[in-house]
Amino acid sequence: MAELSFQNTSVAFAHKSDAELSKARMLFKSFNYPALLTYGPAMAKVAVGLGLKFTIKKTIFEQFCGGETIHECDRAIDSLAKSGIGTILDYSVEGEESESTFKLTAAEILKTIQRAKGNKDIPFSVFKTTGVMSSEVLEAASLAIENNDIKDILLVENHLNVSLKSDWQKGFARFMSLCNAAANSEVQIFVDAEETWLQPAIDLMATHAMEQLNITRAWIFNTLQMYRHDRLAYLQYQVAENKCKYGYKLVRGAYMEKERARAVKLGYQDPIQPNKESTDRDYDAAVEFCLENHSSVSVCIATHNENSSMLGASLLAKQGLDNGDMKVSFSQLLGMSDHISFNLSNRGYRVSKYVPYGPVLAVIPYLTRRAQENSGMAGQMGRELALIESEIKRRKR
Ligand SMILES: Cc1cc2nc3c(=O)[nH]c(=O)nc-3n(C[C@H](O)[C@H](O)[C@H](O)COP(=O)(O)OP(=O)(O)OC[C@H]3O[C@@H](n4cnc5c(N)ncnc54)[C@H](O)[C@@H]3O)c2cc1C
Repeated sequence: MAELSFQNTSVAFAHKSDAELSKARMLFKSFNYPALLTYGPAMAKVAVGLGLKFTIKKTIFEQFCGGETIHECDRAIDSLAKSGIGTILDYSVEGEESESTFKLTAAEILKTIQRAKGNKDIPFSVFKTTGVMSSEVLEAASLAIENNDIKDILLVENHLNVSLKSDWQKGFARFMSLCNAAANSEVQIFVDAEETWLQPAIDLMATHAMEQLNITRAWIFNTLQMYRHDRLAYLQYQVAENKCKYGYKLVRGAYMEKERARAVKLGYQDPIQPNKESTDRDYDAAVEFCLENHSSVSVCIATHNENSSMLGASLLAKQGLDNGDMKVSFSQLLGMSDHISFNLSNRGYRVSKYVPYGPVLAVIPYLTRRAQENSGMAGQMGRELALIESEIKRRKR
Protein backbone atom coordinates (compact mmCIF):
# COMPACT_ATOMS: atom_id res chain seq x y z
CA MET A 1 0.00 0.00 0.00
CA ALA A 2 1.26 3.51 -0.88
CA GLU A 3 2.46 5.72 1.97
CA LEU A 4 0.00 7.96 3.82
CA SER A 5 -0.23 11.26 1.94
CA PHE A 6 -2.29 14.34 2.72
CA GLN A 7 -2.05 15.46 -0.93
CA ASN A 8 -4.51 12.81 -2.09
CA THR A 9 -7.42 15.12 -2.95
CA SER A 10 -9.60 12.39 -4.45
CA VAL A 11 -9.82 10.77 -1.00
CA ALA A 12 -10.01 14.14 0.78
CA PHE A 13 -13.05 15.37 -1.19
CA ALA A 14 -14.77 12.10 -2.22
CA HIS A 15 -17.72 13.12 -0.01
CA LYS A 16 -18.26 16.37 -1.94
CA SER A 17 -20.17 16.67 -5.23
CA ASP A 18 -18.82 18.93 -8.01
CA ALA A 19 -21.39 21.59 -7.07
CA GLU A 20 -20.40 21.44 -3.39
CA LEU A 21 -16.72 21.79 -4.29
CA SER A 22 -17.40 24.87 -6.44
CA LYS A 23 -19.41 26.39 -3.61
CA ALA A 24 -16.57 25.75 -1.14
CA ARG A 25 -14.12 27.36 -3.58
CA MET A 26 -16.24 30.49 -3.79
CA LEU A 27 -16.58 30.67 -0.03
CA PHE A 28 -12.85 30.35 0.69
CA LYS A 29 -12.12 32.93 -2.02
CA SER A 30 -14.55 35.39 -0.40
CA PHE A 31 -12.54 35.26 2.85
CA ASN A 32 -9.81 37.15 1.03
CA TYR A 33 -11.85 40.37 0.92
CA PRO A 34 -10.86 42.34 4.05
CA ALA A 35 -14.06 44.45 3.93
CA LEU A 36 -16.15 41.30 4.12
CA LEU A 37 -14.23 40.14 7.19
CA THR A 38 -14.56 43.54 8.90
CA TYR A 39 -18.22 44.16 8.20
CA GLY A 40 -19.35 40.56 7.61
CA PRO A 41 -20.33 39.76 11.23
CA ALA A 42 -22.49 42.92 11.56
CA MET A 43 -23.92 42.36 8.08
CA ALA A 44 -24.74 38.77 9.01
CA LYS A 45 -26.73 39.94 12.05
CA VAL A 46 -28.65 42.46 9.92
CA ALA A 47 -29.24 39.80 7.26
CA VAL A 48 -30.72 37.42 9.87
CA GLY A 49 -32.89 40.31 11.09
CA LEU A 50 -34.07 40.91 7.50
CA GLY A 51 -35.09 37.30 7.14
CA LEU A 52 -32.04 36.27 5.04
CA LYS A 53 -31.06 33.55 7.49
CA PHE A 54 -31.44 30.99 4.72
CA THR A 55 -28.65 32.64 2.68
CA ILE A 56 -26.21 32.47 5.59
CA LYS A 57 -27.32 28.94 6.41
CA LYS A 58 -26.65 27.80 2.85
CA THR A 59 -23.16 29.35 2.67
CA ILE A 60 -20.68 29.84 5.52
CA PHE A 61 -22.92 28.12 8.12
CA GLU A 62 -23.23 24.99 5.98
CA GLN A 63 -19.44 24.84 5.47
CA PHE A 64 -18.52 25.01 9.16
CA CYS A 65 -21.63 23.96 11.15
CA GLY A 66 -23.74 20.83 11.35
CA GLY A 67 -27.09 22.56 11.92
CA GLU A 68 -29.06 24.62 14.40
CA THR A 69 -30.03 21.64 16.57
CA ILE A 70 -28.64 18.19 17.37
CA HIS A 71 -31.31 16.71 15.13
CA GLU A 72 -30.24 18.91 12.19
CA CYS A 73 -26.69 17.53 12.57
CA ASP A 74 -27.85 14.04 11.57
CA ARG A 75 -26.88 14.66 7.94
CA ALA A 76 -23.34 15.69 8.86
CA ILE A 77 -23.02 12.76 11.28
CA ASP A 78 -24.10 10.26 8.60
CA SER A 79 -21.98 11.83 5.89
CA LEU A 80 -18.82 11.72 8.04
CA ALA A 81 -19.64 8.21 9.27
CA LYS A 82 -19.68 6.94 5.66
CA SER A 83 -15.95 7.71 5.56
CA GLY A 84 -15.36 6.25 9.02
CA ILE A 85 -15.06 9.69 10.64
CA GLY A 86 -16.66 10.37 14.02
CA THR A 87 -18.61 13.46 15.02
CA ILE A 88 -18.06 15.54 18.14
CA LEU A 89 -21.23 17.58 18.70
CA ASP A 90 -20.02 21.01 19.80
CA TYR A 91 -22.72 23.34 21.13
CA SER A 92 -21.10 26.58 19.98
CA VAL A 93 -23.39 29.22 21.39
CA GLU A 94 -21.50 32.07 23.03
CA GLY A 95 -24.06 33.87 25.16
CA GLU A 96 -24.43 36.04 28.24
CA GLU A 97 -23.03 34.84 31.53
CA SER A 98 -25.98 34.10 33.80
CA GLU A 99 -27.12 31.24 35.98
CA SER A 100 -30.07 30.52 33.67
CA THR A 101 -27.82 30.41 30.57
CA PHE A 102 -25.34 28.11 32.35
CA LYS A 103 -28.17 25.73 33.27
CA LEU A 104 -29.51 25.72 29.69
CA THR A 105 -26.03 25.11 28.25
CA ALA A 106 -25.34 22.26 30.70
CA ALA A 107 -28.70 20.70 29.77
CA GLU A 108 -27.83 20.95 26.07
CA ILE A 109 -24.41 19.34 26.62
CA LEU A 110 -26.14 16.53 28.53
CA LYS A 111 -28.24 15.97 25.41
CA THR A 112 -25.08 15.63 23.30
CA ILE A 113 -23.80 13.02 25.77
CA GLN A 114 -27.09 11.12 25.54
CA ARG A 115 -26.93 11.33 21.72
CA ALA A 116 -23.38 9.91 21.82
CA LYS A 117 -24.20 7.06 24.23
CA GLY A 118 -23.71 3.70 22.50
CA ASN A 119 -23.18 5.45 19.14
CA LYS A 120 -19.90 4.59 17.45
CA ASP A 121 -20.36 7.53 15.04
CA ILE A 122 -20.14 10.03 17.94
CA PRO A 123 -17.04 8.91 19.85
CA PHE A 124 -16.56 12.05 21.98
CA SER A 125 -18.52 14.84 23.64
CA VAL A 126 -17.08 18.24 24.49
CA PHE A 127 -17.74 21.31 26.57
CA LYS A 128 -16.24 24.67 27.48
CA THR A 129 -16.16 25.36 31.22
CA THR A 130 -17.09 29.03 30.62
CA GLY A 131 -20.34 27.72 29.12
CA VAL A 132 -21.39 26.33 32.50
CA MET A 133 -19.83 28.78 35.00
CA SER A 134 -18.80 32.42 35.02
CA SER A 135 -15.38 33.69 33.97
CA GLU A 136 -15.33 35.90 37.06
CA VAL A 137 -15.61 32.90 39.39
CA LEU A 138 -13.11 30.87 37.35
CA GLU A 139 -10.61 33.71 37.44
CA ALA A 140 -10.97 34.18 41.22
CA ALA A 141 -10.64 30.41 41.79
CA SER A 142 -7.57 30.29 39.52
CA LEU A 143 -5.92 33.12 41.43
CA ALA A 144 -6.64 31.38 44.75
CA ILE A 145 -5.18 28.11 43.42
CA GLU A 146 -1.96 29.80 42.28
CA ASN A 147 -1.48 32.07 45.30
CA ASN A 148 -2.07 29.27 47.82
CA ASP A 149 -0.57 26.40 45.81
CA ILE A 150 -3.85 24.47 46.16
CA LYS A 151 -3.71 20.89 44.91
CA ASP A 152 -7.14 19.73 46.09
CA ILE A 153 -10.17 21.19 44.30
CA LEU A 154 -12.34 20.74 47.39
CA LEU A 155 -10.22 23.32 49.26
CA VAL A 156 -10.74 26.09 46.69
CA GLU A 157 -13.98 27.41 48.14
CA ASN A 158 -12.28 28.14 51.49
CA HIS A 159 -10.19 30.77 49.69
CA LEU A 160 -13.01 32.49 47.81
CA ASN A 161 -14.82 35.66 48.70
CA VAL A 162 -18.21 34.91 50.28
CA SER A 163 -20.01 36.54 47.33
CA LEU A 164 -18.50 33.99 44.88
CA LYS A 165 -18.77 30.81 46.96
CA SER A 166 -22.25 29.77 45.93
CA ASP A 167 -21.59 30.38 42.20
CA TRP A 168 -18.38 28.36 42.48
CA GLN A 169 -20.19 25.45 44.13
CA LYS A 170 -22.95 25.47 41.50
CA GLY A 171 -20.45 25.72 38.62
CA PHE A 172 -18.22 22.96 39.98
CA ALA A 173 -21.30 20.75 40.52
CA ARG A 174 -22.34 21.32 36.88
CA PHE A 175 -18.79 20.55 35.67
CA MET A 176 -18.77 17.29 37.62
CA SER A 177 -22.30 16.34 36.57
CA LEU A 178 -21.24 16.53 32.90
CA CYS A 179 -18.13 14.44 33.57
CA ASN A 180 -20.13 11.90 35.59
CA ALA A 181 -22.83 11.68 32.91
CA ALA A 182 -20.17 11.05 30.24
CA ALA A 183 -18.33 8.37 32.23
CA ASN A 184 -21.59 6.65 33.27
CA SER A 185 -22.67 6.63 29.60
CA GLU A 186 -19.24 5.33 28.54
CA VAL A 187 -18.74 8.42 26.38
CA GLN A 188 -15.33 10.10 26.29
CA ILE A 189 -15.52 13.84 26.91
CA PHE A 190 -13.12 16.71 26.17
CA VAL A 191 -12.84 19.69 28.49
CA ASP A 192 -11.76 22.49 26.13
CA ALA A 193 -8.83 24.74 27.14
CA GLU A 194 -9.39 28.47 27.60
CA GLU A 195 -7.43 31.57 28.68
CA THR A 196 -4.47 31.11 31.07
CA TRP A 197 -6.10 33.20 33.80
CA LEU A 198 -9.04 30.75 33.92
CA GLN A 199 -7.08 27.57 33.31
CA PRO A 200 -5.72 26.67 36.81
CA ALA A 201 -9.31 26.13 38.04
CA ILE A 202 -10.26 24.21 34.86
CA ASP A 203 -7.11 22.04 35.17
CA LEU A 204 -7.78 21.23 38.82
CA MET A 205 -11.43 20.34 38.14
CA ALA A 206 -10.45 18.20 35.14
CA THR A 207 -7.71 16.45 37.15
CA HIS A 208 -10.21 15.78 39.95
CA ALA A 209 -12.68 14.34 37.42
CA MET A 210 -9.95 12.17 35.86
CA GLU A 211 -8.85 10.84 39.25
CA GLN A 212 -12.46 10.04 40.19
CA LEU A 213 -13.66 8.61 36.88
CA ASN A 214 -10.71 7.45 34.73
CA ILE A 215 -10.18 4.26 36.68
CA THR A 216 -9.93 1.59 34.00
CA ARG A 217 -10.03 3.87 30.97
CA ALA A 218 -9.78 7.58 30.10
CA TRP A 219 -13.32 8.97 29.86
CA ILE A 220 -12.36 12.53 30.80
CA PHE A 221 -9.81 14.37 28.63
CA ASN A 222 -8.28 17.70 29.64
CA THR A 223 -6.91 19.93 26.85
CA LEU A 224 -3.30 21.17 26.78
CA GLN A 225 -2.32 24.25 24.74
CA MET A 226 1.24 23.72 23.60
CA TYR A 227 1.73 27.41 22.73
CA ARG A 228 2.20 27.77 26.49
CA HIS A 229 5.83 27.31 27.51
CA ASP A 230 4.87 25.46 30.71
CA ARG A 231 2.59 22.74 29.27
CA LEU A 232 5.09 20.03 28.39
CA ALA A 233 6.42 20.04 31.97
CA TYR A 234 2.82 20.05 33.26
CA LEU A 235 1.96 17.00 31.13
CA GLN A 236 5.05 15.11 32.33
CA TYR A 237 4.35 16.01 35.97
CA GLN A 238 0.70 14.92 35.79
CA VAL A 239 1.44 11.56 34.20
CA ALA A 240 4.26 10.88 36.68
CA GLU A 241 1.69 11.25 39.51
CA ASN A 242 0.24 7.98 38.18
CA LYS A 243 -3.09 8.34 40.00
CA CYS A 244 -5.43 7.23 37.19
CA LYS A 245 -5.68 6.79 33.43
CA TYR A 246 -4.98 10.14 31.81
CA GLY A 247 -6.71 11.65 28.78
CA TYR A 248 -5.33 14.65 26.90
CA LYS A 249 -6.43 16.53 23.84
CA LEU A 250 -3.36 18.33 22.46
CA VAL A 251 -3.87 21.68 20.71
CA ARG A 252 -1.55 24.56 19.91
CA GLY A 253 -3.87 27.19 21.39
CA ALA A 254 -6.40 29.71 20.13
CA TYR A 255 -5.91 32.88 22.20
CA MET A 256 -2.32 33.94 21.43
CA GLU A 257 -2.90 37.64 20.66
CA LYS A 258 -5.21 38.07 23.66
CA GLU A 259 -2.71 36.32 25.96
CA ARG A 260 0.25 38.42 24.81
CA ALA A 261 -1.71 41.69 25.03
CA ARG A 262 -2.88 40.98 28.59
CA ALA A 263 0.63 40.02 29.73
CA VAL A 264 1.99 43.34 28.40
CA LYS A 265 -0.88 45.36 29.86
CA LEU A 266 -0.61 43.84 33.35
CA GLY A 267 3.19 43.48 33.27
CA TYR A 268 3.67 39.75 33.84
CA GLN A 269 5.75 37.21 31.91
CA ASP A 270 4.19 36.23 28.56
CA PRO A 271 2.80 32.68 29.04
CA ILE A 272 3.17 32.00 25.29
CA GLN A 273 6.21 30.50 23.58
CA PRO A 274 8.58 33.02 21.99
CA ASN A 275 7.86 31.80 18.43
CA LYS A 276 5.96 29.30 16.29
CA GLU A 277 8.95 26.92 16.13
CA SER A 278 8.93 26.51 19.95
CA THR A 279 5.17 25.81 19.88
CA ASP A 280 5.68 23.21 17.14
CA ARG A 281 8.60 21.63 19.04
CA ASP A 282 6.60 21.26 22.27
CA TYR A 283 3.48 20.08 20.43
CA ASP A 284 5.38 17.28 18.74
CA ALA A 285 7.23 16.43 21.98
CA ALA A 286 3.85 16.14 23.74
CA VAL A 287 2.54 13.82 20.99
CA GLU A 288 5.67 11.69 21.39
CA PHE A 289 5.42 11.65 25.20
CA CYS A 290 1.74 10.57 25.12
CA LEU A 291 2.43 7.81 22.61
CA GLU A 292 5.40 6.54 24.63
CA ASN A 293 3.18 6.44 27.73
CA HIS A 294 0.20 4.87 25.99
CA SER A 295 -0.27 2.33 28.77
CA SER A 296 -1.61 5.11 30.99
CA VAL A 297 -2.33 7.98 28.56
CA SER A 298 -4.98 8.34 25.85
CA VAL A 299 -4.42 11.19 23.44
CA CYS A 300 -6.34 13.17 20.84
CA ILE A 301 -4.03 14.89 18.36
CA ALA A 302 -6.27 17.89 17.59
CA THR A 303 -4.58 19.86 14.85
CA HIS A 304 -4.69 21.05 11.24
CA ASN A 305 -0.90 20.82 11.08
CA GLU A 306 0.20 18.22 8.53
CA ASN A 307 3.60 17.52 10.14
CA SER A 308 2.17 16.85 13.60
CA SER A 309 -0.59 14.66 12.14
CA MET A 310 1.97 12.70 10.13
CA LEU A 311 4.18 12.39 13.22
CA GLY A 312 1.28 10.98 15.26
CA ALA A 313 0.50 8.47 12.54
CA SER A 314 4.11 7.30 12.30
CA LEU A 315 4.50 7.01 16.09
CA LEU A 316 1.58 4.57 16.33
CA ALA A 317 3.53 2.16 14.17
CA LYS A 318 6.75 2.85 16.10
CA GLN A 319 4.98 1.93 19.34
CA GLY A 320 3.66 -1.28 17.74
CA LEU A 321 0.04 -0.04 17.91
CA ASP A 322 -2.62 -0.64 15.28
CA ASN A 323 -3.63 2.44 13.25
CA GLY A 324 -7.07 2.33 14.85
CA ASP A 325 -5.87 1.88 18.45
CA MET A 326 -8.56 3.18 20.85
CA LYS A 327 -6.05 5.26 22.85
CA VAL A 328 -4.98 7.47 19.95
CA SER A 329 -7.19 9.68 17.83
CA PHE A 330 -6.95 12.68 15.52
CA SER A 331 -9.36 15.57 15.27
CA GLN A 332 -10.08 18.55 13.02
CA LEU A 333 -12.91 21.09 12.72
CA LEU A 334 -15.81 20.52 10.31
CA GLY A 335 -15.15 22.26 6.99
CA MET A 336 -11.39 22.45 7.49
CA SER A 337 -8.44 20.22 6.64
CA ASP A 338 -10.48 17.45 5.07
CA HIS A 339 -7.27 16.37 3.36
CA ILE A 340 -5.92 15.35 6.78
CA SER A 341 -9.14 13.88 8.22
CA PHE A 342 -10.22 11.81 5.23
CA ASN A 343 -6.75 10.53 4.32
CA LEU A 344 -6.08 9.46 7.93
CA SER A 345 -9.46 7.78 8.18
CA ASN A 346 -8.91 6.07 4.82
CA ARG A 347 -5.88 4.37 6.42
CA GLY A 348 -7.82 3.19 9.45
CA TYR A 349 -6.70 5.87 11.93
CA ARG A 350 -9.29 7.02 14.47
CA VAL A 351 -10.50 10.44 13.30
CA SER A 352 -13.30 12.73 14.42
CA LYS A 353 -14.46 16.23 13.55
CA TYR A 354 -15.83 18.93 15.84
CA VAL A 355 -19.31 19.60 14.42
CA PRO A 356 -20.43 22.95 15.84
CA TYR A 357 -24.14 23.62 16.06
CA GLY A 358 -26.54 26.22 17.42
CA PRO A 359 -28.92 28.95 16.22
CA VAL A 360 -27.41 30.87 13.26
CA LEU A 361 -27.26 34.20 15.09
CA ALA A 362 -25.63 32.65 18.16
CA VAL A 363 -22.81 30.95 16.22
CA ILE A 364 -21.78 34.09 14.30
CA PRO A 365 -18.77 34.71 16.64
CA TYR A 366 -17.59 31.13 15.88
CA LEU A 367 -18.09 31.62 12.13
CA THR A 368 -16.26 34.95 12.24
CA ARG A 369 -13.22 33.27 13.82
CA ARG A 370 -13.22 30.57 11.10
CA ALA A 371 -13.45 33.24 8.37
CA GLN A 372 -10.58 35.24 9.91
CA GLU A 373 -8.45 32.12 10.37
CA ASN A 374 -9.02 31.31 6.69
CA SER A 375 -8.15 34.77 5.39
CA GLY A 376 -4.87 35.64 3.64
CA MET A 377 -3.48 33.61 0.79
CA ALA A 378 -0.38 32.63 2.77
CA GLY A 379 -2.17 30.86 5.58
CA GLN A 380 -4.79 28.21 6.05
CA MET A 381 -6.96 29.66 3.27
CA GLY A 382 -4.19 29.38 0.69
CA ARG A 383 -3.85 25.73 1.56
CA GLU A 384 -7.61 24.93 1.64
CA LEU A 385 -8.19 26.76 -1.64
CA ALA A 386 -5.22 25.16 -3.40
CA LEU A 387 -6.45 21.69 -2.41
CA ILE A 388 -10.02 22.39 -3.56
CA GLU A 389 -8.76 23.80 -6.87
CA SER A 390 -6.47 20.87 -7.42
CA GLU A 391 -9.39 18.44 -6.90
CA ILE A 392 -11.64 20.43 -9.27
CA LYS A 393 -8.87 20.25 -11.91
CA ARG A 394 -8.34 16.53 -11.28
CA ARG A 395 -12.06 15.81 -11.82
CA LYS A 396 -12.03 17.71 -15.12
CA ARG A 397 -9.16 15.65 -16.50
C1 LIG B 1 -10.33 19.55 17.08
C2 LIG B 1 -9.78 20.85 17.62
C3 LIG B 1 -10.05 21.21 18.93
C4 LIG B 1 -9.55 22.42 19.43
N1 LIG B 1 -9.76 22.74 20.76
C5 LIG B 1 -9.18 23.85 21.28
C6 LIG B 1 -9.26 24.16 22.67
O1 LIG B 1 -9.89 23.43 23.46
N2 LIG B 1 -8.64 25.28 23.13
C7 LIG B 1 -7.90 26.09 22.29
O2 LIG B 1 -7.31 27.07 22.77
N3 LIG B 1 -7.82 25.82 20.99
C8 LIG B 1 -8.43 24.74 20.45
N4 LIG B 1 -8.29 24.47 19.12
C9 LIG B 1 -7.63 25.46 18.21
C10 LIG B 1 -6.13 25.24 18.22
O3 LIG B 1 -5.62 25.63 19.48
C11 LIG B 1 -5.39 26.06 17.15
O4 LIG B 1 -5.69 27.43 17.29
C12 LIG B 1 -5.66 25.67 15.73
O5 LIG B 1 -5.94 24.31 15.61
C13 LIG B 1 -4.45 26.03 14.86
O6 LIG B 1 -3.32 25.26 15.25
P1 LIG B 1 -2.86 23.97 14.41
O7 LIG B 1 -2.14 23.04 15.30
O8 LIG B 1 -4.07 23.40 13.79
O9 LIG B 1 -1.99 24.49 13.21
P2 LIG B 1 -0.79 25.48 12.88
O10 LIG B 1 -1.33 26.31 11.77
O11 LIG B 1 0.45 24.72 12.65
O12 LIG B 1 -0.53 26.39 14.13
C14 LIG B 1 -1.10 27.65 14.35
C15 LIG B 1 -0.99 27.85 15.85
O13 LIG B 1 0.40 27.95 16.24
C16 LIG B 1 0.54 28.85 17.33
N5 LIG B 1 1.39 29.98 16.91
C17 LIG B 1 1.28 30.70 15.75
N6 LIG B 1 2.21 31.69 15.71
C18 LIG B 1 2.91 31.58 16.87
C19 LIG B 1 3.99 32.34 17.41
N7 LIG B 1 4.53 33.39 16.77
N8 LIG B 1 4.47 31.99 18.62
C20 LIG B 1 3.95 30.91 19.28
N9 LIG B 1 2.94 30.17 18.82
C21 LIG B 1 2.42 30.49 17.62
C22 LIG B 1 -0.88 29.32 17.67
O14 LIG B 1 -1.38 28.46 18.66
C23 LIG B 1 -1.64 29.13 16.36
O15 LIG B 1 -3.03 28.95 16.57
C24 LIG B 1 -8.77 23.26 18.60
C25 LIG B 1 -8.51 22.87 17.28
C26 LIG B 1 -8.98 21.68 16.79
C27 LIG B 1 -8.64 21.29 15.39
